[in-house]
Formats: sequence, structure tokens, C-alpha cells
Amino acid sequence: MYPVRTPSIIRTLAPYAVWSMKVHEKIAYLTFDDGPTPGITERALDILGEHGARATFFCLGKNVQAHPHLFRRIVDEGHHVGHHSWSHADGWKQDHFAYIREVLRGAYPVGTNLYRPPYGRITPRQAQSICHRYKLIMWDIISGDFDIHLTPETCTSNVMRHIRPGSIIVFHDSIKAAPRMLGSLPEVLQQAQKKGFRFEPIPYT
Ligand SMILES: [Zn+2]
Repeated sequence: MYPVRTPSIIRTLAPYAVWSMKVHEKIAYLTFDDGPTPGITERALDILGEHGARATFFCLGKNVQAHPHLFRRIVDEGHHVGHHSWSHADGWKQDHFAYIREVLRGAYPVGTNLYRPPYGRITPRQAQSICHRYKLIMWDIISGDFDIHLTPETCTSNVMRHIRPGSIIVFHDSIKAAPRMLGSLPEVLQQAQKKGFRFEPIPYT
């Protein structure tokens, strides 16, 4: 199980990470993890473009290396990019230095200072080793698009029930999540924009 909205105790215990943005306007931050994925990232980009929304893509290093044109398109369309390790390293399972190597290797082809730990799993020691170079970006809302037992409608309501100014929302541009992400994303954009939200990328600085 996973909480759709990150409990405040977790946010308090991990103060080195960013869980939501401090804004005074109705701005929210869509994020897409695990891509770029051919056939899926393009469709997410098309939907974002149709709604005039910009987002942040947390890419796996190996996928950026395999699909450089897709990565370029993300950047060219005004979205921001962050890294997500080379091949989805689990910070709770890997030895300290192996994990740090995975992070650095994944950061290289992306070339920015935004990092999201895969599964949100990172130990305080790992965080301490990398937080002087990278901003650790977590989230306050999980759409649940990776959960094959959910419908796109449930993913939409997961987001819409919890969205607030500064929210960081997790989607995935992966094969597994695509049926729910592609079904839910247009609805989230439409409903949130109707409520006066606009979507911006997470700032690099
Ligand atoms: Zn991931």
C-alpha cells in the first residue's frame, strides 16, 4: 500500500527533501517518472501541449541514452528534466557506494540538479552524500497510475481530491502506467485548470 497524499510525519522526518512547493498562487507541478519511453512520452507531451501545461520529467539515465531524441523533445517543449538514477536503483537495497554510483551515472546524461529517488527510497546517509549537488524532489500526491488495479478515473480523483497550490504530483511515462496515465492526464488538466490551477515545471534553482 502507498498513501495517495504523503503524510506530514514523513515530510517532517525527511526535511532534506522537497515535498511540495511554496507558492501563493494556484500553481501545481506535474512530474513524470521512469521515461523517456517511445510511444508513451510523446503522447504525454502532446496532451501537455494541448493544455498549455509544463511539467518535470524524472528520466532514467539508461532511457535518455537509448532515446536521446525523445529527451531532446521534452527539453525543447519547455519542460524541465531531472534524473532518477541510471536504472531505477533502490536506495534501501543497495550498498552505499553502489547507490551513489547509480545516481551519478544517471545524472550525467540528464545534466540537471533535480533528483528523485526511485520508489522515494533514500537513506539519510545517501541523501547527505548527494544533497549538496542535487535538489531531492519528492511529492505530495501520487496518482497511482502504476497500480494496475486502479482505473484512470480513480487516478484522476486521487489527484483532484488532494491538489492544492504547490502540489507535486506523480505520474509515470512508462509502459506499465500508460493506460492509466494517458486516461487520467487530460482529465486532471481539464478539471484543475477549470479550478484555476496552472501547471509549471519545478524550478532548477
Ligand atoms: Zn521510478
